[in-house]
Amino acid sequence: MSELTKEVAENTSKALIEFIWDSPTPYHAVSNMAALLTEQGFTELYENERWEISRGHGYFVTRNGSAIISFFVPVSPEQGYRIIASHSDSPTFKIKEDPEIPADGKYVQLNVEAYGGMMMGTWFDRPLSVAGRVAYASDGRVFTKNVDIDRDLLVIPSLAIHMDRSANDGHKYNVQKDLLPLFGEMSSAGRFRKLVAENAGIPADSILSWDLMLYPHSEGSIFGADNEFIMSPRLDDLQCAWTSLQGFLNGKKEQHISVHAVFDNEEVGSGTRQGAASTFLYDVLTRMNRALGGTEEYFQMNVADSYLLSADNGHAVHPNNPEKADPKNRPVLNGGPVLKFAGNQKYCTDAVSAAFFRDLCKSAGIPVQTYTNRSDIPGGSTLGNISTSQVSARSADIGLAQLAMHSVCEVGGVMDTAYMVRAAKLFYT
Ligand code: ZN
Repeated sequence: MSELTKEVAENTSKALIEFIWDSPTPYHAVSNMAALLTEQGFTELYENERWEISRGHGYFVTRNGSAIISFFVPVSPEQGYRIIASHSDSPTFKIKEDPEIPADGKYVQLNVEAYGGMMMGTWFDRPLSVAGRVAYASDGRVFTKNVDIDRDLLVIPSLAIHMDRSANDGHKYNVQKDLLPLFGEMSSAGRFRKLVAENAGIPADSILSWDLMLYPHSEGSIFGADNEFIMSPRLDDLQCAWTSLQGFLNGKKEQHISVHAVFDNEEVGSGTRQGAASTFLYDVLTRMNRALGGTEEYFQMNVADSYLLSADNGHAVHPNNPEKADPKNRPVLNGGPVLKFAGNQKYCTDAVSAAFFRDLCKSAGIPVQTYTNRSDIPGGSTLGNISTSQVSARSADIGLAQLAMHSVCEVGGVMDTAYMVRAAKLFYT
């Protein structure tokens, strides 16, 4: 492979920023990925229809509009599956069903609840908007449509320091009291539903329900003395989802069945029908195997011959708090993809799967870093060991190093974005 230049990495990171800006919710991320796949000649399959699959062709399936699995079947018989899994969701605030709340007889606020473990303090005092999907009835059937208000619409104002002298001493936030966004003056009462309906191009009274969430209405950017960093909302985990998809599209995909999976609801435990704990991956692989004429034993042989990379961002050493990192395994921004290890097996990496990934990256000159939690600080969880409970392939947890995970705006490395595209391309080649 040719040498990876800073210029290539910057362009790759700019394309990532654009993708994230166009993907304010999992519904948008999945629909944008489906469009990319369609552009590249992939055929959409539907779970409620019969599947006809031919060799030498690519397919994709979505579930709930918020999870997507794409795969490519090589012309010659395969040697197992090559799978990269990531997630489409990020911590945010969901808008409740009956959302408008009057405040002090003067303002209208929106009623929200937390989705996932976000850093609440980062959501104050910045332009917010609303996106997601609406479900509506038309001609006796229920349809869904993605919506994105896509303008500065809301703010969660912080309380002035003069009214809260302990504002800088650490805070415990109460979502129901402290985090309700300001929507308008009292004259705007009743407007929210209309605004959503207008955006969807449907009558307001046809809306039956919605999955709507807040998002920061500001595009990511590249920054740093030498433009070496990237800041954007939702880097966890769209940075992994998008880079692995680029690698999937550009890899040769000749020896194995190449599979790219993006699950929803990782931030709330993966336990939904579109999450990593669901049968989605198993269903797609077994149906594909059957459509190709494979027996159950053949499927199990293929699974035994497979590798799954669970790609979810990890923590870089924090410049202000370096003592929070492990004394030795300390990933940095732009240091390359990170292999994550955990003695309690919350990460599924072991010696064999780590060796496989290191060897793969070494062959292309891609640096690899390692992450472990400090032994006295419990870490987060991810989707690797959850998805392997459904499809028991050899697996490793990887990710890109980032700062400010679960902040409304996260920080990553420009070179890392390009390293991951390369590593994924190699994996699928
Ligand atoms: Zn994540």
